Amino acid sequence: MRLYLDVLAAKMCGARTRACRVATPGDTCRRAERAHECVCSKGVLWTIALLLAPIACAADYRAGVARVDITPPAGHAMGGYSDRKQGATGIHDPLYATVLVIESGENSLALVTCDLRSFVSTRVGEIAKQKYGIRNTIISVSHTHSGPLTWEARTPWYSEAEDKMVEAIGKAKAAMFPASLEMSTGHVYLGFNRRKVVDGHATMWWRNAEKLPSHPLDPAVKVLLAKDSDGKTRAVLVNFACHPSVLGPDNLQYSADYPGAMKRYVESQIPGATCLFVQGGAGDINPYRDKEPVAGQGFQAVDEMGQALGKSVVSIAGRVRPVSGALRTVSEITEVKNRWNPNEKIAIGWTAGAFGNSLCFAALPGEPFVEHQLTFREKAECDNAMLFGYSYSAGGVWAGYLPTILAAVEGGYGADYNTTVEVGTGERLIDRAVVKLFEIRGLLKDLPNPRP
Ligand SMILES: [Zn+2]
Repeated sequence: MRLYLDVLAAKMCGARTRACRVATPGDTCRRAERAHECVCSKGVLWTIALLLAPIACAADYRAGVARVDITPPAGHAMGGYSDRKQGATGIHDPLYATVLVIESGENSLALVTCDLRSFVSTRVGEIAKQKYGIRNTIISVSHTHSGPLTWEARTPWYSEAEDKMVEAIGKAKAAMFPASLEMSTGHVYLGFNRRKVVDGHATMWWRNAEKLPSHPLDPAVKVLLAKDSDGKTRAVLVNFACHPSVLGPDNLQYSADYPGAMKRYVESQIPGATCLFVQGGAGDINPYRDKEPVAGQGFQAVDEMGQALGKSVVSIAGRVRPVSGALRTVSEITEVKNRWNPNEKIAIGWTAGAFGNSLCFAALPGEPFVEHQLTFREKAECDNAMLFGYSYSAGGVWAGYLPTILAAVEGGYGADYNTTVEVGTGERLIDRAVVKLFEIRGLLKDLPNPRP
């Protein structure tokens, strides 16, 4: 019964969101919105939606945030560029794990966003489940190229970082408050597609300071706010797709690159809020000012890009709309072949979730090309859809680059060399996540209708 009511309420909350968007009270309208038939009439949908609103709408969430410093000691090997010949010399700006915990009814999610290049751990989620009852833990990294080597070189720092992530989840859980979630999208052009395809063949261009056009590209900035019962913004989650490689291999100091600068800017503009960055499908997207030399304007370029993104975020945060519906989640392992050695299997764990029809997400542990983000958004049929790339959650390995089928044909970095998963893996993961998202929203049935 509870499940039925939750699903019904989630549907109605989603319906209310769409109704708010397409009609004003008093209107009568009928239109197909993507796959959903949205029917609004005075006194019917509004009354039902308002009656159901207390069951599982905005104010029923609880949220908490916490941040912990996970910067390794100087001397640790750095990741991101193979041509660095020595370890880190020091810290330019600290690397953090910033955690957002969201509770919705019996379900809960800990989103552990880290200033790291990659991270693989099932231990963090297992302990979070045992100690704090957190059902889903996603470790999402920004992919900064000025952080340490991680799972390839499991140093003592690695398990210390895991412990600190667990500690931060505990702090976020202990600091939870009744919350409403609100969201909106804007656009900013700060990155470009680093694959130049001519006559069906890709060549790489890593830097584009002239901001010449490139394709495909997704300038979407997605902003999710968690507000407390006083309406004060306590968490700002930013989802944007672009490699944090403003700093190049000449930089030997730890830095969170542009996402760190963006977080500092947003937190200076929205006092009391903690900002989190979740990387999108950035597998083929570089910053215009890629590998800016430290001896030139490297750190200045980091600040400028971070502030440009931050200004967009602050603007978007001023025009958000409510997220509603109970959180439902699903995790799976998808097994694919090694593209270059078909006898070898590769297990890829992933998680997807939905707040009614108002917000869907899918978290993949690798580097999805930006087309996958565009496809996911189109197929998910949610008011807001976020693809979390670089996000480990459900076992298996780090999947590396996830090119599209077409990109695999065209070749280039991450599409031919420097990718190991079989061709079509990205499409399979997106399709599977979309199917499960329809299932958990109650939009796919277990049994067919009887023949008419
Ligand atoms: Zn990368």
